[in-house]
Amino acid sequence: MAADPVDVLVVGGGITGAGIARDAALRGFRTAVVDKGDFASGTSSHSSRLIHGGLRYLEQYEFRLVREASRERRVLLSMAPHLVRPLSFVLPSYRGARVPAWRLRSGLWLYDLLAGFRNVGRHRWLGRKATLRLEPGLRDKDLRGAALYFDAQTDDARLTLATMRAAAHAGALVASYADVTAFLKPDGRVRGAVVRDVLTGHESAVRALVVVNATGPWVDALRRLEDPGANPLLRLTKGVHVAVPRQRMGNVRAITLTSPLDGRVMFVLPWGDLSYIGTTDTDEDASPDDVRATGEDVIYLLRSANWFFPTARLSPRDVVATWAGLRPLLSTGEGRDVAPSDASREHRVVESAGGLLTIAGGKLTTYRLMARDAVDRVAISLRALDGRPRAARPPTDRLPLPGGETADLDGLVKAATERGARESTARYLVGAYGSEAAAVLNIVERDRALGQAIVAGRPELWAEVTHAVEREMALRLSDVLIRRLHLFYASRDQAASAAGVVADRMAAALEWDAPRRAAELADYGEQVERSRAFAGEVARLTKP
Ligand SMILES: Cc1cc2nc3c(=O)[nH]c(=O)nc-3n(C[C@H](O)[C@H](O)[C@H](O)COP(=O)(O)OP(=O)(O)OC[C@H]3O[C@@H](n4cnc5c(N)ncnc54)[C@H](O)[C@@H]3O)c2cc1C
Repeated sequence: MAADPVDVLVVGGGITGAGIARDAALRGFRTAVVDKGDFASGTSSHSSRLIHGGLRYLEQYEFRLVREASRERRVLLSMAPHLVRPLSFVLPSYRGARVPAWRLRSGLWLYDLLAGFRNVGRHRWLGRKATLRLEPGLRDKDLRGAALYFDAQTDDARLTLATMRAAAHAGALVASYADVTAFLKPDGRVRGAVVRDVLTGHESAVRALVVVNATGPWVDALRRLEDPGANPLLRLTKGVHVAVPRQRMGNVRAITLTSPLDGRVMFVLPWGDLSYIGTTDTDEDASPDDVRATGEDVIYLLRSANWFFPTARLSPRDVVATWAGLRPLLSTGEGRDVAPSDASREHRVVESAGGLLTIAGGKLTTYRLMARDAVDRVAISLRALDGRPRAARPPTDRLPLPGGETADLDGLVKAATERGARESTARYLVGAYGSEAAAVLNIVERDRALGQAIVAGRPELWAEVTHAVEREMALRLSDVLIRRLHLFYASRDQAASAAGVVADRMAAALEWDAPRRAAELADYGEQVERSRAFAGEVARLTKP
């Protein structure tokens, strides 16, 4: 991308930047996209992993947002059926709760209405007994009943990666570990950026007609890089999740709760043999690079969940993994008078005096619409610059993401078992790769040893490490263990014991020398430690 100027340089390889790169490349613009870390290493791998209309936004009367998000839920279910899956939710109602049953009922009716009654299914109201039959672990004292309703769950990191790969297939030039350190302003206007290769330190100039700042919680930092006096656009709020063994938690489906501690809406969500609980929502001043779960966050989440699942008696020792991210919410100028959970999830595209386009706000669910709005602005700038005819908006809602070409997931599972994969392995591979599960099996066919599990008792295969390096641009150990395979979140020791052997395989594939291998292991170890740093704080906070 440093060789020839591009039409548009997108800074940020989270879901927003990936979506913009895909849309721009599909419009025929010469597009480049860079991220200072791995793709999705920012907020886009630290979300609640929901593709949802946003039931709780009804409380803020954000009807337009809910309608838009509901439509996008339908679009994403069809663009990537392997990565975006329907999920049923139980929303229990208790006597004396902040939101009374009648309001819940009308809210859910409106939720289905705003989805044009085309959600995965319509909500139903369950009596007390029926609720406990579905979710026997739920607190029964004062339980009046529950709503059963539908949304969808995704793998946020893999959805971002699939979108980035779709951008690359459409012709975008993509680079991870490529940090924008300065802007090129030859004529006072932003005309590209200085990009530092984080792994080698090498710097290059990428020239571009238009630059888009899609750096999520970093957008204000990047704006200040162009104009030190730029006004902040964002209000950053931190959200933390903890993952615990599902058997301990006791939920069968997804559960929507209002925390007994502060009345905020939160979730207990199923993820294989784990459940994750989240999220917190607190104003945060720390840099997005330093955000992590604290002892206080973990105690809040566990206490809230324990109230609803009294036999779970979860303690911080049950926590398998934590993750924390900063929501890049639009600042409304009302400062902190509005509670973090009530801050708007809308998005906005802003152009600086020097021509830098910044997209701020939004959510994972609506990324395709955000991307479309941003690229519409890019198109206007390009037309003003060189008079080119306006390119039509591409049908980004109808083009499947890689792996999402078919909705017949059972057919894909059958094809995989016919090639010798066990049923459970086939289901896991199809869930992660869709039709591209075949590519992982091709690797196993080349070398049968790669059909073995990386961690005994878990489904992840050695062939996936090869696939991640060869097809998914994994460059670092954490790219594989955290964002491609999720062993960091799912295995009891956060893959600490497997890290060495995975590093060996990556070292062979990527020609790492011994110091690089050691550095990768040290970096991964630091990330595991960071996700567990809450433990010491909990001990201090709970000392009698
Ligand atoms: C706790 C939590 C839960 C959430 N749950 C949901 C949910 O369930 N559903 C939903 O729809 N939304 C959810 N969201 C919102 C959603 O996750 C975010 O809106 C979305 O991921 C933001 O994506 P992004 O691409 O804008 O930002 P990011 O994913 O943060 O991407 C920005 C990228 O920019 C890169 N970058 C920064 N500076 C530079 C630089 N100088 N040079 C190059 N690259 C740079 C970073 O490395 C980063 O990868 C949640 C958010 C949080 C925090």
